[in-house]
Order: sequence, then C-alpha cells, then structure tokens
Amino acid sequence: MKLLQSPIRFVKGVGPKRAAQLESIGLKTVEDLLYHLPFRYEDRRQIKKIRDAVPGCHESFVGTLINLQKKYVPRRRSQLLSGHLRDDTAIISLIWYRAPTYLIEGLSKGQRLLVHGKVEAGRGVLHQIAHPEFEVLEPDGDQELQKILPVYLRPGGLSLSLMRKWIGHALAEYGSLIPSYLPPPTMKRQGLISLTQALAQLHQPDAQTDPSALNDGSSAAHRSILFDELFYLQLGLGLRKKSRSTSEGAILTRQSKDLAAAMEGLLPFTLTRAQIRVLGEIYKDMESSRAMQRLMQGDVGSGKTMVAWFASLRAIENGYQAVWMAPTELLAEQHYRSVNRFSNALGINAALLTASQPAKERKSILDRIGRGEIQLIVGTHALIQEGVQIPQMGLGVVDEQHRFGVLQRLSLQRLTSPGFASAPAARQPHMLLMSATPIPRSLAMVLYGDMEVSFLDEMPPGRVPVKTKVYREHERKAVYQLVVNELRKGHQAFVVYPLVEASEQLQQVRDATQMAEKMRQSVFKDFGVALVHGRMAAAERDEVMRRFRDGEMGVLVATTVIEVGIDIPNATVMVVEHAERFGLSQLHQLRGRVGRGNAPGYCLLVNRAPRNAVAEQRLRVMEQEHDGFKIAEADLSLRGPGEFLGTRQSGLGDFRLVNLARDAQLLIEARKEAHAWLADDPELRSGEAAVMREILLHRWGQRLELGAVG
Ligand code: ADP
Ligand code: MG
Repeated sequence: MKLLQSPIRFVKGVGPKRAAQLESIGLKTVEDLLYHLPFRYEDRRQIKKIRDAVPGCHESFVGTLINLQKKYVPRRRSQLLSGHLRDDTAIISLIWYRAPTYLIEGLSKGQRLLVHGKVEAGRGVLHQIAHPEFEVLEPDGDQELQKILPVYLRPGGLSLSLMRKWIGHALAEYGSLIPSYLPPPTMKRQGLISLTQALAQLHQPDAQTDPSALNDGSSAAHRSILFDELFYLQLGLGLRKKSRSTSEGAILTRQSKDLAAAMEGLLPFTLTRAQIRVLGEIYKDMESSRAMQRLMQGDVGSGKTMVAWFASLRAIENGYQAVWMAPTELLAEQHYRSVNRFSNALGINAALLTASQPAKERKSILDRIGRGEIQLIVGTHALIQEGVQIPQMGLGVVDEQHRFGVLQRLSLQRLTSPGFASAPAARQPHMLLMSATPIPRSLAMVLYGDMEVSFLDEMPPGRVPVKTKVYREHERKAVYQLVVNELRKGHQAFVVYPLVEASEQLQQVRDATQMAEKMRQSVFKDFGVALVHGRMAAAERDEVMRRFRDGEMGVLVATTVIEVGIDIPNATVMVVEHAERFGLSQLHQLRGRVGRGNAPGYCLLVNRAPRNAVAEQRLRVMEQEHDGFKIAEADLSLRGPGEFLGTRQSGLGDFRLVNLARDAQLLIEARKEAHAWLADDPELRSGEAAVMREILLHRWGQRLELGAVG
C-alpha cells in the first residue's frame, strides 16, 4: 500500500516538470492517478465521414489538417486559429476564437487529427466545429480507431494521449497493488467486480463495452468502485461510532447553582417544545460518561443557537469551558454578541477569537483562556490553529457544520491538551454540531452514520411565513417596485445571483458589478447599493456585510452565498435572480435571511429559464411550502439528493468519487452491508474482517482519524 502513495513522478514517463503540472490538479500520488477516472468516453467506433456530418450533433471525425491559419484579432487581444480537416469524403472547418499558445504551437499542417465537437452549419458551404477537442494521431495510429477511449480532466497543454499513456503505465505497474477486498457474498449480491478489474475497465475499456453506460457512470465498473468507497466509509463511520462509545467524556450533571434556571428568567420568550426535547437529548448525553457526538438539525430560525447556549451553560456550571466555532468572522461576531447579552448577567466571561485580531489581543485572550478565566469562547477557524489550548474544554459547538471538514471538526475536539492531565478535561469534550438547513431524515441517518441526530422540528410561535412569489423576467418592474416599497419604509433588501463555476466567475463578477452600478444609478439610487462577489477576499466581504448589517446601505447585491446564518432583522426582501438554478433547500435557506424582525418578509424568485413546466412547478413549491424538512423531501424527490446536498454537506468533503446526488441508493446498500459486518465482528478482528480493517485504515484511517481506534 506504501507504493501506491509514491509521488506521481515515479510513474514511468512522468518527470518532475510534468509531475508539478499534475499536482496542480490534485494528482499527487500514484494512487491519485489510478483513481483519476475519465469524465467522458470517446467512441472511436463511431467515427463518421465528414460528408455525413449533421449540424447540431456532437460527432467525431478523422482527417488531415490543411489550410491552417492564425490571425491576431486586436479587438479581442487574442489569436484566432482556423483550419480545415479533410477526409476522403469532404472537408469541414475548425475554428478556435481564442487560441492559447500551446495549441498554436502544437498544430501544424498535414497532421492527422481526430476531432470531436458540435457540428454547426457554417456561413459558407462548409460545416464547422468551434473549439473542437482534438487529438493528434500517430501516423500509424489507426489501431486506436476501433476503440472506446477515455477522456480525462488534465492540466492545460497536456495531451490526452500522454495522460492515457501514463495511466496505462500506472495500471500495469501498480494496478494490482490497489488494496481491495469485499466479501464474496456481498460482491455477488451487489453484482460487483474487483477494484483492480474495475479500474482497468474504466481506464482501458474494451471495445465490447457499452459506451453509454460508461458515459453516464452506470457501468458495473463504476458501481463497483463507488460501492467499495461507500462500503469502507460506512465501515469507518461505524467503527468510529463504536470507538467513541467507549471514549470518555466529562460527566456534566445539573448543578445546584443552576445556570439554566437563571437563564430562563432572562429569556424574553419561552422555549419551544422541540427546543426542550432536543435539549433533553443533549443533557442526557452530557450526563453520561461517554462523549457526545450529536448533530442538531433544524430549520432556519428554529432557534438552534439558544439550544447550544443552554448546552454551554451546562458545561460552564460544571466548571468547564464551552467553545463555539463558526465558519465566518461575521457569524462568530454575531454569536458572540447574542450570547454576550446574557453572559454578563449570568456572571460568565465570554471572548471572541478570530484571525483578524491583533496578535497582542489574541495572546492576552489565549492566556486568559489558558488560566480558565474565560468560560465561553466563540471563534472561527482561528480556533484550530496552532497555539490555542483550551484546557477545560467540556463542550464544542460547531455551527453550520457542513462548512467544515471532518478533520477540522476533529481538531476542535482536540483543543484540550493531554498536557493538562490533571484538569478535568483530560476526557474528550462533548460535541454538538449544527446544520444550516435540514436534510431528509432518511438521508441524514445514512450520512451521519457516526453520530446521533436530533431534530428541532418546530418553529417558535408567531413567525409569519415569508411571502414567496415566482416572477418571470418580463415582470421585473413589479419586483423592483416591491423592493422600492420596502426600502421606502426604511427596510433593506438582498439581491442574490447564483454561484457559478470558477471559470465563469470573472464574467459574473463583471455582470454583477455592472448590474449593481446600474441599480445604484437608477431604481435604487436613493438607497445605496453594495456588492459582494465570489472573487472578494473573505475579510473584504465580511466588511461589506458588516456595513450592510449596520444599515449603511439599503441593497446588497451578492453573487456569493450570503452567510446562511446571518441575522439582519431589518432586511425584509430577498430577490433571487435565476432562481431556477438553485435547489429548493438552498432557496429556503436564502429566504430564511429575511422576515426575521417584526415586519413581514418577501422572497421574490425570478425565474429566467426558458419556459419549462418542470422548473416552473418546482419553484412553485416555494410559494406554498415553508417547512424546511418538507422542502428537503420535495427536493429529494424532484431532483435527487445531490441537487441540494453538495458533497461537503456530508461533512466528508473528502470523497474521491462519490456523488451523493447519484449514489444515494448505493450508499444505503453499502451501509446495510457494512453494518452487517460490524454486527458480526464489531472490531473487525477475524480473518476476513481483519483484511478489511487494514484496507479501511489505508483508505480512511487518516481522514477519519481511525488510528486511535486500533
Ligand atoms: P437558527 O436555528 O436558524 O440558527 P437562531 O438560533 O438564529 O435560528 O434563532 C432565530 C431567532 O429566533 C433568534 O432571534 C432567536 O432569539 C429567536 N428564538 C429562539 N428561540 C425562540 C423561542 N423559543 N421563541 C421565540 N423566539 C426564539
Ligand atoms: Mg444559526
């Protein structure tokens, strides 16, 4: 297994320079390369004659490159490259509007090319393909033509044939070393092939394979690799849960100097039944000798913070420290402010710890934490950086836990240093994780296989649902009118654009900047317009958000996720542009940003998709439904899990291949199989299980910190 971890430059043909290129797309080890699966397959058995090209279709042709020309286009400040491809039946034009240098240098007249792309009816007599994918064929490369060939994501300038060659070498040399074992009955039940076989089939499919199954990821080889990944993950989570059940936590019982009672006296409202129930579940964990690992799921606005606060009081009254970690400074500040309202009255010292604090201030806070003078610490990632020790940590709270990876969560738990063995917190702190938005119960149970899950499924009374309405582009005037009405009342508004791929970001930033400028000069000119976009540094973004929170401007245009937890009671309108591109759960989260004060809130969804009944109907769900759990269910059935579940949502942002969208069913199967094994042999000690244990440690050991398990 060690060999698989060898640096990628050990693969035959990959030198140090190429290795650096490969590393730039995350391929560092031989194993990474083996698992770098094609994202598409090219069916060379389907090569057409140019004469038979059909405009509008994606097709492949083989021919000779003739008439290659490049032209500098000053207006675009780029090279335009064009040429013709000729086979024995006809000619087609090829054109690249912005040709990168490597492309210009790599092509020359007379080459035999295989090109692939969408055929367009050209302006002249010839059809054309713009920006075709292509490959230069070896003069004697015709034997390649009867194959199904893999297409890989690769660093710019690296040819596909090189990638294929290297991966071929890696397979030949290391393929058989891939640690792989699934119990034979499981393989049979699930219709799986061995991992080594599966990888070979995916990288070098034989000509009999069904290319459509390869292309949509439903081939037996895909299934086998995914199943393997999921099976081991579930095994790992199961094992972790087991090991945790023996890891000791501090026993935090109700004390005679009861902070909870004092707190209830300070509360401007009474807790909901759901809050009381979930708190009961949490207390029960805290009172037991085993460290809590609990995920609290609750709709936006269901009052998770208050539950976390009560849990923290329990830790504090037992002489421990409570630590909250939030994904952004703004959220951390917000939590800090809201707990500060009560902490003084209760005689609790709270502190905020973020990366932007001056070193001196930070040091003084750390010293006071070290001496146990501060009982509640609220912070960002800065908490898990070096130098932070929280000797008496009894409870860790992670807000919006999906924004953190497993490792970060674990590091929070590790802040109690073993050096303080005499301190009560030599045990593991209890952990409470909070989700930003609910996911369906069925899925939660599977994804969070290693923890307990609580459902905060009731809203505080008196909440008026945010009025939600879907608009089309031509109704934009009405949308702006409504926004202006609210602004006139002194309220504030969000205008949100969908998040885009990194490659499209620049364009979007330009669009949004223009849009914001236009709004500033026209419709919203009396109210002030701010912009946050995906290319801003976190600190800068936080700063703009802060100014918006403080009411400096009326409208915030955002091309990036508005921090889901942000609480700006004066904001009453949310306009979502291209609402059709969002998942329903995401829309629900966004909508949760408004209507938090006393005034009614509005959510205006602008549907800019071409007429499409399904998209329309999907968005309409938002007009009727206000329960986050139900919306999540609707999302699940309408679009499949992944649409609202980014991989990161699982908290395991480390999957190599699994796409929770596609693979939820497989995940459930894998969990069943894995748990059956754990039920038989909880520590995986017997012959077969011991082999699986080895593999498990190799795959997930580090990521799930299973080392301690053995
Ligand atoms: P979320 O679950 O989305 O994190 P918050 O904890 O921010 O929600 O709570 C939203 C708002 O509801 C806060 O202003 C909070 O003070 C208020 N709140 C919490 N619990 C109750 C309750 N039982 N009754 C009334 N208001 C509550
Ligand atoms: Mg919150």
